[in-house]
Amino acid sequence: MASKPRLYIPQGLREDMELFLTDARAHYLCNVLRLSAGSLFWAFDGQNGEFECEIVECGKKRVSARILRRTRQFEKGPDIWLLFAPVKKDRTDFIVEKATELGVSKIIPVITRRTISEKIKKERYIAQAVEAAEQCRRQEIPEIEDARPLETVLKNWDTRRILYFMDESGKGRPVSEVFGAAAGKDGPAALLIGPEGGFSEQEFDFLRRQDYAESVSLGKRILRAETAVAAALSCWQAFCGDWK
Ligand code: SAH
Repeated sequence: MASKPRLYIPQGLREDMELFLTDARAHYLCNVLRLSAGSLFWAFDGQNGEFECEIVECGKKRVSARILRRTRQFEKGPDIWLLFAPVKKDRTDFIVEKATELGVSKIIPVITRRTISEKIKKERYIAQAVEAAEQCRRQEIPEIEDARPLETVLKNWDTRRILYFMDESGKGRPVSEVFGAAAGKDGPAALLIGPEGGFSEQEFDFLRRQDYAESVSLGKRILRAETAVAAALSCWQAFCGDWK
């Protein structure tokens, strides 16, 4: 099935509503997709579900459309956060896109001792997440926070949220054991993946001392950070998330 044109339109959508789109969305529908009056597309707003829409008129800078019907009720995904140490730009793009496809609800870039913290462009990450959500038929966009030092994020940590940190040192418990034991126990969770240079000894000591944190191994091979993000999130979704 050719992928249907799907747009995130962050305003309260409801049936029988008139839509007036300008800027990038108008350009995308009329000039990129070359849709015209009578063409259909799908829209979601991250709160009210997904709607089938019909183009009424394609103007130079503006598109008018009407919402025909709701095609899917809104459903919230699992409460899983990703904390990751930014890596090189294109690899960080990959992390944001895969995390969105793999259903994270929030992304927090964290600065650790060995993070090569290139300029963190939150707007870029948000655009990446919107595009990934539109393509993978998600109904909401993950929240993306400003990059902050790991210790700052953990200082105010809500200890009801388990923090699974991916421990490349070989001291972590096997992921199948950790997530297998957590399967079925609903509750907020977060995954933490370190930078290319790995966690420092001080960071490992600190994390291992926190009772809300669990050290997890993804096997004997050392994965690139972006691989570890995709692997850890896939395991979590399979055992504890919405892949059941
Ligand atoms: N330079 C480090 C590897 C860092 S890999 C070294 O050679 O040891 C980047 C991040 O991916 C790590 O901080 C960790 O969070 C995650 N990761 C990579 N391989 C992993 C594994 N086998 N188990 C758990 N986490 C892993």
